[in-house]
Amino acid sequence: MSEHSIRPGYSPDSQFACRYCDKRYKWKSTMRRHEQDECGDKEPKFQCMYCPYKARQKGNLGVHVRKHHTPPEQVSDIAKSDIDQNVQN
Ligand SMILES: [Zn+2]
Ligand SMILES: [Zn+2]
Repeated sequence: MSEHSIRPGYSPDSQFACRYCDKRYKWKSTMRRHEQDECGDKEPKFQCMYCPYKARQKGNLGVHVRKHHTPPEQVSDIAKSDIDQNVQN
C-alpha cells in the first residue's frame, strides 16, 4: 500500500482564506473583493438607478440592470443617451 500524503480538507485550489470568516478562494483578488464587499454585514453600496435594488458588487448591479431594466426596443437611442447624460460623478 502506497499512501501519499494528501491532507484531507485541504484544497490547494483555494488557498486564500478570508481573515474574517472561513471562506476560501482560489484567487487572492477574489478573496480581497469578498473581504471588502461581501464579508460580514456589509451594506450593499451599489444602488440601482431604476428600482430599490442594491448590489454588493458593481458587476452584479450591471447584470441586474441589463436583465431587468433593458427592454430590447429601448436600448437603441432614447434610453441610452438619457442614461449616459444623467450619470454624474
Ligand atoms: Zn469572509
Ligand atoms: Zn433595478
